[in-house]
Amino acid sequence: MARFVLIGSGLAGGLLAAYLGRRGHEVDLYERRTDPREGNIVGGRSINLAISTRGIHALKQIGIADEALRSAIPMRGRMIHDKSGALHFAPYDVDPKKCINSIGRAALNSTVIQAAQRYSNVSVNFNHKCTGVDIESAIAHLETPKDSVTAKGDAVIGVDGAFSAVRKSMQDAIADFQYEESYLPHGYKELTIPPDPDGSWQMEKNALHIWPRKSFMMIALPNPDGSFTCTLFWEFEGARSFATTKTDDDVCKFFEEEFPDAVPLMPSLLDDFRNNPTGSLVTIRCAPWFYREKVCLVGDAAHAVVPFYGQGMNAAFEDCVVLDECLEEFRGNREHAFAQYFRRRKENADALADLAIGNFIEMRDKTASKTFRAKKKVDHALEAVLPGIYLPLYTMVTFTRIPYSAAARRARLQDRILYTAVISLLMIGIMTVAILLGRS
Ligand SMILES: Cc1cc2nc3c(=O)[nH]c(=O)nc-3n(C[C@H](O)[C@H](O)[C@H](O)COP(=O)(O)OP(=O)(O)OC[C@H]3O[C@@H](n4cnc5c(N)ncnc54)[C@H](O)[C@@H]3O)c2cc1C
Repeated sequence: MARFVLIGSGLAGGLLAAYLGRRGHEVDLYERRTDPREGNIVGGRSINLAISTRGIHALKQIGIADEALRSAIPMRGRMIHDKSGALHFAPYDVDPKKCINSIGRAALNSTVIQAAQRYSNVSVNFNHKCTGVDIESAIAHLETPKDSVTAKGDAVIGVDGAFSAVRKSMQDAIADFQYEESYLPHGYKELTIPPDPDGSWQMEKNALHIWPRKSFMMIALPNPDGSFTCTLFWEFEGARSFATTKTDDDVCKFFEEEFPDAVPLMPSLLDDFRNNPTGSLVTIRCAPWFYREKVCLVGDAAHAVVPFYGQGMNAAFEDCVVLDECLEEFRGNREHAFAQYFRRRKENADALADLAIGNFIEMRDKTASKTFRAKKKVDHALEAVLPGIYLPLYTMVTFTRIPYSAAARRARLQDRILYTAVISLLMIGIMTVAILLGRS
């Protein structure tokens, strides 16, 4: 059995530690923050997330899905809020039982860490910040509040998120390491809709709420305490943007113009807007995700994506499943296991990155249009009459474990066939009318 040094006990780090611990490996997990169970805020990231089939599958494999989902809230579709306050509900799937689930990040993080700690061969060390990794010898350099220490393993796994120190060490040491980061011109800010005084939800609880406004949008996901966490995705710069909205009056004016139905539900809007940070949205692609049998990257450290498909964590959890499978399949040759994991995941991570950016345009702009809603209805009708043959893209990404790249390819093919069929039907219609007119 090997000794793994894991850097980062975020969502994927905790889960991966549990997977490796279950196989009997020695696992030393190091996290720069304090223990999330002590109530520290998971700063800079979303308070809640949508978990769906891929993420749930990964939790099930280690036996913690029920525990993790106990306080999750099912969301059965999108509730679109237009400027007049009118609401349109669009179910996610033809099957009303298919839903995504709003889950608290901190609670989920605690659950995966607890799962890892059930194995006596897993140790979790908080307040240890990795400053770099010697990739030839699999030694991680760590800073604690008191001193500097090192951790040596047979391999170091970087599960330390989008701004990974492990990846940076690979970048510095591997001559042809490929690295690409791209930022959206939009940032995000979290805001709150509190519960009603009686503790109930002030809007439909079982939906993901969207206020699509073409170049920007606000969304809201329900929390178990009756509140909603809203996220405003908005341009950093421009005539109307985070940069130009400085005073309380600016904020009120913008919200009253764009989200008039939400404003009365947001008593702490001005405080939230002033005090909550504005986050940035980055896509990171890199290669390779491993160095010999010594170092490997998992989750956002390997492939951060923008959050618009609600798949970043789901994909990170899927990484854990695949890496665990590869380590088992190629036991005795860890370098080959890492290489296979990279081969199986890379094109899917790249496909997801593109899908996630595409879905931003869909959510902020297209969901508001009648044509889009009609296309969704056609999608669902085709799915119902051609079960297992026609699968809408959203369904494949969210409610199946079809690899992301295969889902994207299949959706393109389906769209081409649909387009050809519609054009053919139109042509037949026109020709029929022409023949009938010619006869009369
Ligand atoms: C606004 C927003 C909304 C999102 N919504 C969704 C969603 O609905 N569904 C979904 O699936 N995904 C969503 N995501 C994506 C999701 O948050 C990430 O994909 C997921 O957190 C990745 O998990 P991870 O463990 O790889 O990284 P992280 O969760 O970022 O964990 C990394 C961990 O490493 C630690 N760390 C970092 N550097 C060091 C260091 N040098 N030394 C030691 N420890 C370190 C960090 O403290 C952290 O605990 C969203 C992201 C954002 C920003």
